[in-house]
Amino acid sequence: MLNSTSLIAEARTKLEGYLLKKGLRRSSERFAILEEVYSRDDHFDAEELYQAMHQRSFAVSRATVYNTLEVLVDCHLVRKNQFGDEDNTKSRFEKSLGRQQHAHLICVNCHRVMEFCDPRLQLIKNTVGNMLQFHVESHSLVFYGECSDAACVARTKAAAEHANLQEGKTA
Ligand SMILES: [Zn+2]
Ligand SMILES: [Zn+2]
Repeated sequence: MLNSTSLIAEARTKLEGYLLKKGLRRSSERFAILEEVYSRDDHFDAEELYQAMHQRSFAVSRATVYNTLEVLVDCHLVRKNQFGDEDNTKSRFEKSLGRQQHAHLICVNCHRVMEFCDPRLQLIKNTVGNMLQFHVESHSLVFYGECSDAACVARTKAAAEHANLQEGKTA
């Protein structure tokens, strides 16, 4: 596994090459956004990234953040996920260089995102691809359910008790 400094260096080189090839502007904003993405370990949306840039006092427009994210997805430096949770219009992004293919688990109560790797997914992809003569390029797999995080369990329990109480009042 690469350390984060050499990972960022590799990502910069890759982005540089891609922008050159596509004749796109190699602006410092794009590289700053790339570095912010590679400093994070979470699944974030474009707005969160925009806010994080501003917290670092990096003046960059929303449009640049959105547009750069699309560029990073196109050159496979960032993976875009559609989790289809309560706000499924939002895409959630994560860095992809130096990371294994993985699938996600999402808690329907606290919206925590967890990851898992299982080599059988690759096997399914190959088998189904061969069987149906279909070239599989990517996949998306999300498990929804309830996590066992203590804070989440406590909050869910409190919410249920509150709902029961409300019900009791109106009955
Ligand atoms: Zn949870
Ligand atoms: Zn992930």
